Amino acid sequence: MHETMIAQSIVEAISKAAAKYDAKPIAARISCGQLNPINDEVLNFAFEIVAQDSVCQGAKLQIVHIPLKGKCKNCGDAFDFDIYSPGCPACKSNEFSIEPDAPLLLEEIEFEDK
Ligand SMILES: [Zn+2]
Repeated sequence: MHETMIAQSIVEAISKAAAKYDAKPIAARISCGQLNPINDEVLNFAFEIVAQDSVCQGAKLQIVHIPLKGKCKNCGDAFDFDIYSPGCPACKSNEFSIEPDAPLLLEEIEFEDK
């Protein structure tokens, strides 16, 4: 259900852009954070269904997962948080904070050449 709502808002956003540029979208890229429980397959499937009979029909959707960022309290290093080896990769300190998760973003829309 979660994915269907996301797919709907993506199709809406792409359709708006397509109307603005008067072009047919062929691909789109979205990004989301690690904590966003998005299943790529489910979202692609939902997108296909929602896109049917719209200008987005047949467009390919690419989903990029952005890693969580950690910031070391000891040396100030910013790093990609790895759940399997939590800690600062620079100084091995376990004192670090986690930056806010990346939001769901529509990053890029590719249009057909006219
Ligand atoms: Zn450190």
